[in-house]
Amino acid sequence: MKGKREPGDRRANPRVIVIGGGPAGLLAAGYAARQGAEVVLLEKMHKPGLKLGITGKGRCNVTNAAPLREFLAHFGTQGRFLRQALNRFSPQDLQELFASIGIATVVERGGRVFPEHLRAPAVASRLTEWVKKGGVRVQTHTEVLGVTATRDRVTGVRIRGEQGESVWPCHALIVATGGASYPQTGSTGEGASWMTALGHTVVPCRPALVPLETAGDTAARLQGLSLRNVEVSLWLRGKKTAQAFGEMVFTHFGVSGPVVLELSQQAVDLLRNGECPELCIDLKPALDETKLDARLLRDIQHKGKKQIANWLRDLLPTSLIPICLEATGLDGSLQAGQMTARQRRNLKMWLKYFPLPLTGYRGFEEAIVTAGGVALQEVDPRTMQSKLVPGLYLAGEILDLAADTGGYNLQAAFSTGVVAGEAAGIAVSRSTG
Ligand SMILES: Cc1cc2nc3c(=O)[nH]c(=O)nc-3n(C[C@H](O)[C@H](O)[C@H](O)COP(=O)(O)OP(=O)(O)OC[C@H]3O[C@@H](n4cnc5c(N)ncnc54)[C@H](O)[C@@H]3O)c2cc1C
Repeated sequence: MKGKREPGDRRANPRVIVIGGGPAGLLAAGYAARQGAEVVLLEKMHKPGLKLGITGKGRCNVTNAAPLREFLAHFGTQGRFLRQALNRFSPQDLQELFASIGIATVVERGGRVFPEHLRAPAVASRLTEWVKKGGVRVQTHTEVLGVTATRDRVTGVRIRGEQGESVWPCHALIVATGGASYPQTGSTGEGASWMTALGHTVVPCRPALVPLETAGDTAARLQGLSLRNVEVSLWLRGKKTAQAFGEMVFTHFGVSGPVVLELSQQAVDLLRNGECPELCIDLKPALDETKLDARLLRDIQHKGKKQIANWLRDLLPTSLIPICLEATGLDGSLQAGQMTARQRRNLKMWLKYFPLPLTGYRGFEEAIVTAGGVALQEVDPRTMQSKLVPGLYLAGEILDLAADTGGYNLQAAFSTGVVAGEAAGIAVSRSTG
């Protein structure tokens, strides 16, 4: 009968349950099954890996070839926690696993590793097939509502599936529900509240790698303008706290693009603390102030008869010229040669420090990752098992880990997934074998 569980039915007594079919959950399930455990993967969406399928602008930046120390530095002080997971399952191991399932990879600029031929959705499908071939039962359209536990250990999950609500028992539970960003992919952050209910400390979740909102109408007037090879720095009360070099873009609300995302985690934390940080764009990072001044003088000598508004075209994108004139107080109708030394200094300073006061940040809908999550000191980095609730394992973005762009976040999900899967698989095989 449909929905009825027979004694031989694996659902009757699943050994390891994995919640979440993202990169962490898929690898956790696959590696738990390799240990001979019975494994069920529960995914609430119609298929696993929906977020994986939109990563890297559809190209899926799966990992980064940076040496371990450099790799870990991209997670800030939290990176230390990942050392053992990355030793167990390194970027090289990931590429070998991918090669074995027909996903050849290439290393590109900045050590970023991409599939050579496949798009991101195909990577998600291949991984799902690999998991199924490994004997994992993948149960989609199945939403976990909560975790059940005794005082001693985790005992199962409450689910809502196609046959209604029920409780599924398990010997080990791997929670890989991700963060709260891009909720339309299924990552809505409820895993964190189950962890709080089980007694875990959850560091408040907040958007990271997220566009930032700026004061006034400057950004809106520049909407669509993309700047390459600029150095953007983050300032608080006259002190520079971080900087990044690369590309950025203006939007109707503020700024986005790789350098802005890189600085966003620090900026978000400052804004949440009630601070008023500011971004400064160095539009001429290749020239220090002295060299830039010499360049301006030379240009004035050669083209001093040009109107300032036209003369600036050699220095700036057209849409930035009115902003520059307003900020520096220059009269665009005067000749460049009429500029005073003081005005030239103002112009130089604006080109090096174009200020954009920050007023806010965008929400989880636009955040690439979620900062915050289950506190790392409550998780064993060798097994990903909870130090508070035996039988409970955590993997991926639900942990308090967030890195820069570049493939680091996916590798963290894959590596913690492998470690959790192996440890849970070994534990249940031993206890029931
Ligand atoms: C647009 C975008 C681009 C990105 N590009 C890159 C990139 O190129 N490189 C990189 O390294 N990182 C990238 N990231 C980040 C990366 O995708 C995440 O860090 C990674 O997916 C986290 O993996 P995870 O398995 O922990 O969680 P997720 O991928 O979020 O998966 C969690 C899964 O759990 C399921 N789930 C949640 N709650 C329940 C529940 N109650 N019951 C059942 N199932 C549930 C969800 O449906 C989801 O499938 C990108 C993120 C975004 C949003």
